[in-house]
Amino acid sequence: MTTLRLDASKPDDIERAASLLREGKLVAIPTETVYGLAARIGDERAIEQIFQVKGRPHDNPLIVHCARIEDIERVATRIPPIAWRLFERFAPGPLTLILERAATVPAVVSAGLPTVAVRVPSPTVTCALIERVGEAVVAPSANRSGRPSPTTAEHVFEDLGGSIAAVLDAGRCSIGIESTVLNVVGTIAIVRPGVVTADDIAEVIGFQPPIVEASVQSQPIAPGMKYRHYAPATPVILIESLDEIPPEMYCDSVVLATKPIGQPWVARLLSHQTLYDEFRRADHEQRRAIYVLLTPDVRGDDALMNRLRKAAASAPTTDTHGSNQ
Ligand code: AMP
Ligand code: MG
Repeated sequence: MTTLRLDASKPDDIERAASLLREGKLVAIPTETVYGLAARIGDERAIEQIFQVKGRPHDNPLIVHCARIEDIERVATRIPPIAWRLFERFAPGPLTLILERAATVPAVVSAGLPTVAVRVPSPTVTCALIERVGEAVVAPSANRSGRPSPTTAEHVFEDLGGSIAAVLDAGRCSIGIESTVLNVVGTIAIVRPGVVTADDIAEVIGFQPPIVEASVQSQPIAPGMKYRHYAPATPVILIESLDEIPPEMYCDSVVLATKPIGQPWVARLLSHQTLYDEFRRADHEQRRAIYVLLTPDVRGDDALMNRLRKAAASAPTTDTHGSNQ
């Protein structure tokens, strides 16, 4: 199959993407976090195809994307007041809430769980597209399972070109890492940290929700937490100091750091926006390793540390927090 490249700045192309989704095709869509691989929520056959083309395990649930806050009531039930307060503050935006699933939502969306993860993406073009589809879409990240999430249309073509109908290209994602996922059914907890932090959430709900790591739970709230994720083919190694890099690796590896560092290392800037792009670039350049310098600003960034630990999970590491496998 030839994967069409559609241009999000052209209304005709948005309509084309919407009609493909209505017909049951898969379309990669831009969001502020990462590109998503979308299917219509009512189309179980198309949703099954998402798992196929991504190579995604069936026990890893998908996130439902609604065009408007009011539409959340169509996919979730018994929504607690706290959820509305959070959506009023953070939607549209990169906060996903885990709510009780409405009976009309196919069980495959939630990997059979009684809950459903829902958010409203912020780009107007994404919401316009969902409106035109006529119902919510489900959209996990548009990468092959386990690979770094895609933050440009090129990344999507790299992983899924030839396997999906189209990519709606809106350029680079403004945030560059996945949404914060907050469980509000039963115990309130962050199951995936993101740019909406525990402090941000505390301003609305009055207390800091804990960040629940898979390793401390026998039964993870979010099944996706147990998989190695976000990983390039190149080993990712977390370091406290540049001294840890053997001199013979200076030329063949790359160092990611939040501040410029001088010679002799090949160094690149680390941020939410650059992380996945740099992971993929290291693969293209066939680097022997990606060293990530854990300066205090990185250590203090729960979202970044979560991605880094998962990416480094099978590689040697000096990180003391343990992996999130
Ligand atoms: P992705 O869209 O690829 O970033 O993956 C979506 C992630 O959202 C999953 O890996 C889960 O961690 C989380 N998630 C989605 N739905 C649920 C749910 N019903 N309960 C718990 N976690 C969920
Ligand atoms: Mg993903």
